[in-house]
Amino acid sequence: MKSPLHQYTQKRNFSKSPEPKGRDGKRNRHHFVIQKHDAAQLHYDFRLEMKDSFASWAVPKGLSTAANEKRLAIRTEDHPKDYADFEGNIPKQEYGGGTVMVWDNGTYEPIVDKDTEPKSMEAALDQGSLKFNLRGKKLQGGYAMARTRGKDGDQEQWVIFKLDDDCADARRNPVSTQPKSVKSGRSLKAIKREER
Ligand code: MN
Repeated sequence: MKSPLHQYTQKRNFSKSPEPKGRDGKRNRHHFVIQKHDAAQLHYDFRLEMKDSFASWAVPKGLSTAANEKRLAIRTEDHPKDYADFEGNIPKQEYGGGTVMVWDNGTYEPIVDKDTEPKSMEAALDQGSLKFNLRGKKLQGGYAMARTRGKDGDQEQWVIFKLDDDCADARRNPVSTQPKSVKSGRSLKAIKREER
């Protein structure tokens, strides 16, 4: 089935024209966010936009830019769409108490294998295998995720790793060299001090 923007896309060369490429339904681009969360244990909440909410994982060490370096990702509850912008302090006694920073954000596109039937991200999530390209401010390129244990929401264990593409770079370590917020430019300390 042709996308509603098929003609628009056909008539234009976006490498020469600055016009917007548009959100072609088939390209299926959605948002992602990584929130650095200084709770009882510091971790990175990785969230991928699905149809109605953000599928979420807690990644204790954060994502690596080195190809095939697996990081543990523990599935957590889905979060509402407006959570993606949240930066602030959750009261210590409350669930997830601690400081939250928008560490990276941007869009992602599912990577569809040529020989297999394209499936929705929701179906891939249910089947325990995801592959996508990130277009963030700190993280770019292909990543894959695989469920390794459990299959009932927040008991699920996954791994996430960088695919070996042009954006893979074992020398980069953005978790330590780019520690500040992409939303406000602030450090965790500054957010802790300035927000209530
Ligand atoms: Mn968290």
